[in-house]
Amino acid sequence: MKKITSLVLRKIPRHVLQKFAHKLLPLAGLMHRGKDVECPICDAKYAKFLTYGRLKPRENALCPKCLALERHRLMWLYLQEKTDFFTDSKQILHVAPEFCFLDRFRNLEIHDKYVTADLISPLADVHCDVHELPFRDNSFDVAFCNHVMEHVDDDIKAMSELCRVLRPGGWALIQSPQDYSREDTYEDPSITDPKDREEHFWQDDHVRLFGMDYGRRLEEAGFEVVEDRWVMEMPEERAKKHALPMEEIVYFCKKPAAVTTQHHEVAEQSNDNTAAAAQEEQESATV
Ligand SMILES: [Zn+2]
Repeated sequence: MKKITSLVLRKIPRHVLQKFAHKLLPLAGLMHRGKDVECPICDAKYAKFLTYGRLKPRENALCPKCLALERHRLMWLYLQEKTDFFTDSKQILHVAPEFCFLDRFRNLEIHDKYVTADLISPLADVHCDVHELPFRDNSFDVAFCNHVMEHVDDDIKAMSELCRVLRPGGWALIQSPQDYSREDTYEDPSITDPKDREEHFWQDDHVRLFGMDYGRRLEEAGFEVVEDRWVMEMPEERAKKHALPMEEIVYFCKKPAAVTTQHHEVAEQSNDNTAAAAQEEQESATV
């Protein structure tokens, strides 16, 4: 089973999997009937979750009903218990939207605006490059952008873009795969062969492997960062019940109040007309 999972994930492009997985996986869930684990996102219960992972498949990882992984279940609980996401009206930007969150976030009536963006994903409202987001400065209260920064050419620039489009005081969750045993982020642009990238950066389309300096990189991009080890502090029984990632640090990124970002002027001078047009276009399409 582990070998089949690994083969499917490595050979079939991600955007194709996103289209069909949610129709097929509920059938696989029938093989795991039980009540030992519970998905906090869709409330489904199973004997265990499905195995998932490209290089090293992990048991008890994927919810067959909503396709949530360990990190998605952690983020959902974190949003519920550590933020005002489900209780205060927000304008939200979601880059590389995850299937398990997409309709649930979109259908939250409390929020004013929910915009999804991605380079190629068929799930997104706006297709764009995270290095140059087509949105005005200070236009969102919340941004999500998970498991993107390990793929992009310039992670600091992409993080800065997310900071730029947030309002002062707004916040973001920008999680990435991280080697907790590594002090500094490992990058080497000369490593381009997919097999070498898989060996060095854990996946054939990753261009870096973040270390414990990840929070400092987010700070360099303009955020105030809280490194929250919430999952390590919760009762073990609860973490097991939801099969959470026990080592994951949540990086809560806040845009400082009343401070302009380094890209503010550039964006105003060169991108404002295009950005405004793109934003108006997607607003009329999505609201
Ligand atoms: Zn679920």
